[in-house]
Amino acid sequence: MPVAAMYPGTFDPITLGHEDLVRRSSALFDRVVVAIASDTGSKTPLFSVEERLEMARTALSDIDNVEVRRYAGLTVDFARDNGLRVILRGLRAVSDFEYEFQLATMNRHLVDDVETLFLTPDERYNFLSSTLVREVAQLGGDISGFVSPDVNAALKERLGNS
Ligand code: ADP
Repeated sequence: MPVAAMYPGTFDPITLGHEDLVRRSSALFDRVVVAIASDTGSKTPLFSVEERLEMARTALSDIDNVEVRRYAGLTVDFARDNGLRVILRGLRAVSDFEYEFQLATMNRHLVDDVETLFLTPDERYNFLSSTLVREVAQLGGDISGFVSPDVNAALKERLGNS
């Protein structure tokens, strides 16, 4: 039976760490849906959900079995409603574990038959987060090794560092 997975997140913006996880997971599952949250809770994103979608679509356009979609509401509801049996999350360091463990446990309470799976990125991206990329870009640092060229250009334009 084909197995489809969901990779949910804010992707503000998508980094090479996210891309690495999508590429690894696309080799494991029949279909991977990168699901970009429009409900960002207390976080105010730098990029609108439409901008985040467009950047992710461009960065991932060469992978056939990957689709980028937006969603609102509970991650588990989107997974169940779209027949996605797996929620993928990335683990970088021990510091990610506690929050991710809480989230996975809560999601299992909400919907028992959607499984959370964790992947680790290539070690080059173990320290990388969208937050760090935004902060370094804001201060004029070179982030070209951590995001795709389109994302780099979008960050420069948004932050006025071109
Ligand atoms: P969220 O706001 O839901 O944490 P993010 O867009 O920051 O959304 O991240 C989505 C997922 O990707 C999370 O599971 C996060 O741990 C993972 N992730 C983020 N950056 C990396 C990276 N460099 N390597 C591996 N996983 C990552």
